Amino acid sequence: MLNIALFGPPGAGKGTQSEYLIQKFKLFYISTGDILRKELADESKLGLEAKSIIAQGGLVSDEIIVQIIEKTIKNNPDVNGFLFDGFPRTFVQAYILEGLMIKMNTKLDLLISIEVSEEESVKRLLNRGKTSGRLDDNEEVIRNRLKEYNNKTLPVLNFFKERGNYVAVNGLQDIQEVATDIVQIVNNEQSKKLLNMVIFGYPGSGRGSLGKAIAEKYNLEFVATGAMLDEEIKKNTAIGKEVRNLYESGQLVPDEIVIRLIEQKIENTKNAKGFIFKGYPRTLVQSYILDGILKKHESSINKIIEIDVDTLELIRRLDKRSQTDSAMPYDSSTERIVQRLEQHKTKTIPVIEKYKEMHDVAVIDGQDSFETVLERVSLEIENSFKNLK
Ligand code: AMP
Repeated sequence: MLNIALFGPPGAGKGTQSEYLIQKFKLFYISTGDILRKELADESKLGLEAKSIIAQGGLVSDEIIVQIIEKTIKNNPDVNGFLFDGFPRTFVQAYILEGLMIKMNTKLDLLISIEVSEEESVKRLLNRGKTSGRLDDNEEVIRNRLKEYNNKTLPVLNFFKERGNYVAVNGLQDIQEVATDIVQIVNNEQSKKLLNMVIFGYPGSGRGSLGKAIAEKYNLEFVATGAMLDEEIKKNTAIGKEVRNLYESGQLVPDEIVIRLIEQKIENTKNAKGFIFKGYPRTLVQSYILDGILKKHESSINKIIEIDVDTLELIRRLDKRSQTDSAMPYDSSTERIVQRLEQHKTKTIPVIEKYKEMHDVAVIDGQDSFETVLERVSLEIENSFKNLK
């Protein structure tokens, strides 16, 4: 999820920027002001309660605000994230927001403060008042709204400064320039949220082709240690020669070699939305190594996909592959195929079991056609993106 609150005095341009941001980042817009105006127009109980306060430029009670926010969030469970405009406006509301985010198992990523001077704010609101038809866009009420802002809302900034998610933007620039600044801030924030997943499955389960397709579809970096090692073999590097001997005797490659390759890959990857690891980790030791490497990059594994295919189907697929051009050196004979399946069972299955305790594992039925299985995996990935904290 991506949750943002736009902050700033009345007239700072929060509404204008919101229109652009909700489109760009596919966010659900919650403007407490808009919701209250709708209640007012509908002459609901809540609207009638709030009417005189709004007309005077005061702040509606926190009790009313919590009700409308909670209701809106509840009615929109499947969104990419929320964009709050005009909320939180008091210290209590800052706590309310934090509580709501915890309840949804997410957090407020950014509080973007659009900064404009008081005089500019008055000027803009008077101008807006000529056409907005809002009962609170006249000078007396505007002054009162700004007083409320200075007394009750501005101190809320400290709450977010302490939590480290406050960012300021110069609201005196052109609308487009303000938008560009905000987009950059949001992109920066998003680049910290990577979806790192491991795709598990027996050799022949389709994890390689599925992983590749998913990587392409969702702009993830595909890290197939097997393919990286093959590349070394092809180039006939020192590592390549060593690896070839190991392969031919059906053994795994020492961890030191693979660590170096993965580190390189992570360091050289720019702008991907995360990594898909295939064929790694294969042992318990490697699972700790991978956690360590990602931690070094302030990241972690947040999704495990296990492709489930029954043994007879695996043998059938691997045997078929061994007779084609895409045969790997390690699936050239029945004996080796069986050896790989056995290795997977004894070494990798315990790793999957460990991951199951620590991570969110999705077991996907891989028995059907590639397209069907890809569709299943895609659904899982889309959900995972939504759940990224
Ligand atoms: P806005 O459209 O955000 O400028 O809000 C218009 C008016 O609605 C404000 O002047 C307040 O009276 C009321 N209001 C909107 N949001 C809130 C809030 N979060 N807390 C209290 N009052 C609010």
